Amino acid sequence: MYIDPQQCTGCGLCVPYCPVGAISQEEGGVATVDFDGCVECSTCLRFAGCPTGALVESPETSEWPRLLRRQFSDPTAPHSSTGRRGRASGGVKTNDVTGQTRRGGIKISMEFGRPGVATRLSQIEKMSVALAKAGAVFSAQNPVTALMVDSATGEFRPEVLEERVLSATLEIQITPGQLDRLVPVIRDVAAKVGTAISWSATMRLGDDGSIPYLADFERLDVEARPNAKVNLGMGRPLVAD
Ligand code: SF4
Ligand code: SF4
Repeated sequence: MYIDPQQCTGCGLCVPYCPVGAISQEEGGVATVDFDGCVECSTCLRFAGCPTGALVESPETSEWPRLLRRQFSDPTAPHSSTGRRGRASGGVKTNDVTGQTRRGGIKISMEFGRPGVATRLSQIEKMSVALAKAGAVFSAQNPVTALMVDSATGEFRPEVLEERVLSATLEIQITPGQLDRLVPVIRDVAAKVGTAISWSATMRLGDDGSIPYLADFERLDVEARPNAKVNLGMGRPLVAD
């Protein structure tokens, strides 16, 4: 985003709309956008209602690799890699029909950043490389996976690493037998990576309605706070479970 200093009256309306504090204003002066800090979420443009039209997209907004900022941060912008909007592979509600949550498996989702914090893609790569070494398989339909040079190593394309986004979600598919190895890796990297991370595990309920693998998580000292989403009318599974 860019603020045209010739058009800005310094009214200050836009400043509180920025979720990462990238807009600043000297006392009584025009507002400016910190180009490196801006995650291109378009919140200021869509909601602040600049009275003079001083807020404009900078030309770099739609250029590679900066366009990734918008695709991960602006909920109205689809990803060029998946064609979908949002920061992950789609809502949890669709995971069982798309085959991302299979019986006998666990899907782990790790959200990096959030409003007020944000994340560099390099911070996510630290986790993906560590998880790849530990044998994790990355979700194929995820826009973070699409940034990888090689999903076997978890390494991202080098030119994207310094891009900053509001949040992005790394997703892996594992077997219950991998929990003992992967949970300590997630804990270890999360403590060092320097941004907010929240992670969750998604499994399909047993036929009797029980939640599988809870004892495994408790044994690994992971506090279980179960919640469920019930999928009605989503049609036939797209892949066999
Ligand atoms: S809302 Fe527009 S005129 Fe007011 S400070 Fe922001 S850019 Fe300047
Ligand atoms: S596009 Fe988003 S991050 Fe950039 S200045 Fe506007 S509100 Fe802030």
